[in-house]
Amino acid sequence: MPSDSVSTCPCQSGKGFPSCCGRFLAQGLLARTPEQLMRSRFSAFALGGFGAYLLATWAPESVAGMTAESLSEPSLDWSGLEIVSRSQQGNAGVVEFRAFFREDGEVGCHHEISRFERRDGRWLYVDGDVLED
Ligand SMILES: [Zn+2]
Repeated sequence: MPSDSVSTCPCQSGKGFPSCCGRFLAQGLLARTPEQLMRSRFSAFALGGFGAYLLATWAPESVAGMTAESLSEPSLDWSGLEIVSRSQQGNAGVVEFRAFFREDGEVGCHHEISRFERRDGRWLYVDGDVLED
């Protein structure tokens, strides 16, 4: 693991965490684009411990019983993110991404087209279609 991995943002933007997803996760700023929200949610999953943020950025009708506690628990060993495409029209946005994880010594991929909506000035994750690679 590279020595700068602590300060480099997990979303692999190439920026440091404080100037990338840390603005939203740690400083409470609001994501201004669907891609920023998507990246910050990936980083939240990758880092663990940000269940409250994940819950706050999830459309309430899609939360389906998840709690800040359950969302804070480490899930998969997320290792990388690739944004395939993004688009935004008014208060609706779509981001297609591949998120990579390590499991049993192999690299897996979660490929999803996510839908986002901006409500009361806040971008929320609504739902997504998972694609089979
Ligand atoms: Zn980031």
